[in-house]
Amino acid sequence: MKYALVTFGCRVNQADSAGLDGDLRAAGGRPTTVSDADLVVVNTCSVTSSADQSARQTIRRIRRGNPDARIVVTGCYATRAAEELSRLPGVEAVVPNARKEQFTADLRPLIASLPRGTGDGPCGATLETQPSSRTVQMLAVQTGCDEACTYCIIPRTRGHGRSRSFDDVLGRVRSAVADGVKEVVLAGVHLGSYGRDLTPGTSLQSLAQALDALPVDCRFRISSLEPMDCEPGLIDLVARRGRFVPHFHLPLQHASDAVLRAMGRPYTRDDYRRVVDALRDALPDAAIGSDIIAGFPGETAADHAASLDYLAGSPLTSVHVFPYADRPGTQASRMSSNVDVAVTRRRARELREVAGQLQQRFRHRAVGTVRSALTLGGGAAALTDNYLKVELAPLLPGNRLVDVRIVSTTAGRMLGEPLGAV
Ligand code: SF4
Repeated sequence: MKYALVTFGCRVNQADSAGLDGDLRAAGGRPTTVSDADLVVVNTCSVTSSADQSARQTIRRIRRGNPDARIVVTGCYATRAAEELSRLPGVEAVVPNARKEQFTADLRPLIASLPRGTGDGPCGATLETQPSSRTVQMLAVQTGCDEACTYCIIPRTRGHGRSRSFDDVLGRVRSAVADGVKEVVLAGVHLGSYGRDLTPGTSLQSLAQALDALPVDCRFRISSLEPMDCEPGLIDLVARRGRFVPHFHLPLQHASDAVLRAMGRPYTRDDYRRVVDALRDALPDAAIGSDIIAGFPGETAADHAASLDYLAGSPLTSVHVFPYADRPGTQASRMSSNVDVAVTRRRARELREVAGQLQQRFRHRAVGTVRSALTLGGGAAALTDNYLKVELAPLLPGNRLVDVRIVSTTAGRMLGEPLGAV
């Protein structure tokens, strides 16, 4: 059975897809392109209406390009609107997020009906799972969310916060490292709530300490973390320069306290500022990313100016700007909006200009420094600990941790030279 995975959305979805990939291999599958696949799994996102639309367009395109493929849809859109998706041509099954863990078991009859040709072993026997040679692996240690951000549909599509046990996480890390993975990215829908649902309760910081002490040849990265969960102990742990790399992503969403309140975000701009400033003091070279929404219902020109003003003076190094998009079913969707589409677009553009300047400043500051970096793909590029993608000359083998001197940055490209033999 030849399969292809198409993934939309956040790092948790990417981590889920990595898990599905492993499950499908274990079920005897062999990864291939969408046009060649017997089974195409579309792992959807439903954060905005346009995410839904992209998923529908993709499913139709898959159907047109490969009419024989059986299409299975999963992810947040599949959880929110299963019926709508099951009506699309070619869709054989819709699997909600809650059944992702049992994905191949639930789909056993469908998988059994697929060709067992070139991907199978002698006499059609299932192949053993092949160790993947991925360089970086996303690992979802948590899913679900108990917060109530008014613009977000995720608590409805992913349910309450649930965490993997320590043993489960440590076991998955060991097996990823045995497969050759050199960087594990800890992901979660609400990652900072890790462990609150476990008995006895624990925390992301405790998990990070356990991983830091694990005798494996691998580094760790923390993916998106809500600002209120970025605690001093976690910053200290990263600042001790063990296995955790100096990279944080703390979504601000807005720098006007009035809008933060309307969004249901449990912090103020000054709370956020304190966290980011403490982070910058402890880790002067860290990448600190953020997300910001433009055009939230009720946003005034003064609110927008507050976001521009905060960003311009902040130590952030990258900011993703999202024009507000209505998501039916959320509280924000029922708020009356005074911000029209053209104004939202203009505000998003202005925010992106400032975000571009922050990124440029970070890149220029990195020139001349030496960073620990992981070579990617064929080895023509490497990802530094502080999340800069650097093209390498001379080329190196892929999947190696090396020291790289950053030589230049021009037109969005960074060049580096590896130091020492590898
Ligand atoms: S913290 Fe807020 S934005 Fe993030 S998943 Fe939970 S409800 Fe959504």
